[in-house]
Amino acid sequence: MLKTDTVGTVQGLRCRECGRSYAATAQHVCEFCFGPLEVAYDREAQAARATRAAIEAGPASLWRYAPLLPVLRDDPADRVDLGAGWTPLVPAPRLGAALGLDDLWLKNDTVNPSFSFKDRVVSVALTAARALGFSTAACASTGNLAHSVAAHAAKAGMDNYVFVPADLEAAKIVATAVYGPNVVAVRGSYDDVNRLCSEVAGEEPWAFVNINLRPYYAEGSKTLGFEIAEQLGWRLPDHVVAPMASGSMLVKIDKAFRELADLGLVADRPWRISGAQATGCSPITTAFKDGTGAIRPVRPTTIAKSLAIGSPADGPYALDAVARTGGAMEDAADPEIVDAIRLLARTEGILAETAGGVTIACLRRLAAAGRIARGERTVAVISGMGLKTLDALAGEVGPTWEVGPGLDEFRAAVSGPAQEVHP
Ligand SMILES: *Cc1c(COP(=O)(O)O)cnc(C)c1O
Ligand SMILES: [Zn+2]
Repeated sequence: MLKTDTVGTVQGLRCRECGRSYAATAQHVCEFCFGPLEVAYDREAQAARATRAAIEAGPASLWRYAPLLPVLRDDPADRVDLGAGWTPLVPAPRLGAALGLDDLWLKNDTVNPSFSFKDRVVSVALTAARALGFSTAACASTGNLAHSVAAHAAKAGMDNYVFVPADLEAAKIVATAVYGPNVVAVRGSYDDVNRLCSEVAGEEPWAFVNINLRPYYAEGSKTLGFEIAEQLGWRLPDHVVAPMASGSMLVKIDKAFRELADLGLVADRPWRISGAQATGCSPITTAFKDGTGAIRPVRPTTIAKSLAIGSPADGPYALDAVARTGGAMEDAADPEIVDAIRLLARTEGILAETAGGVTIACLRRLAAAGRIARGERTVAVISGMGLKTLDALAGEVGPTWEVGPGLDEFRAAVSGPAQEVHP
């Protein structure tokens, strides 16, 4: 088994369910109770190294939080780093006015190196993978993860195999393949892809970032929470709305806020966290709404393919985090998702992919239902870029007028009604 000496602030891995400890290896499931393993840290070492001043003096990337991440070999030259993270947190007054929210902010993760939040988890996971001695990267992906693994593996000079559902958006497959990975398009759903990859992971000595490297991978999502708090002037917001696929990102934003408060980097105050899914794949939201807490797997049918996980591994923990903080969950149908993409673009100038449409559509529902109060300082996570999912807008928007290249024709057209020439 691959193994490394732990340095920096990592103590090892620990089972989330039974608490049993393990060395920091490429392992994600407890051998005793089959619970998920999480990274365990030396809190005192973290407190000594992660001061506000040290973080503020760090790079303009997620690596400014290195003492709070699962770093196994503490040399910046060993990082697999394309510059992910430290993305803009912007006030959104025009969108806020449309939704009845007076203090709305957007965390714009569309501007990451491969244009989605997945760069956070991949940069952290592949850095750990290299420290653990792996030379081949892999993943089971709904699209953005494959794109990010291919990009980071190219930078690191690692071989890589990325597995995706064959019916993925064409733009995502092309944008992934260009980095030169082995793209395995699987005829099946994401859940089929994931099952296949779990079998492959048992046979090949590969670093599957979201399978055997999952404890490290998942920690990368904490950087969203760290950045939100630091960018608000080292203050926690009142409310965060996050999209959910496996549920991991939402769980880790909550964990990040807890860690910052425990380390004294922010004042400990209540926060709420709410989750967003597409109606066509809403197993976590459904369990929240029906009050059973039991997540029943579904077969996804939604344009929000990046969130289309029918059997979400971290669903139970997402339900816990939302219930504990007094948040809520919502889901939005495909037409609402498209409307929300357009609303976000025309009010705030951000082109989001379908997952961003899900977040804004659910934010709108939560605000309308009074689950978010007008004055709450609310941050919505925009996790992926819209050029990857232009298919979703086909027939929705296009030229206002089509004219010949003459001034008279132009004048005549603009003095009349919009033609809305949709492609
Ligand atoms: C993967 C992904 C998410 C959330 O994923 P989790 O599995 O819940 O952590 C959100 N938005 C986009 C665009 C994604 O690609
Ligand atoms: Zn266990």
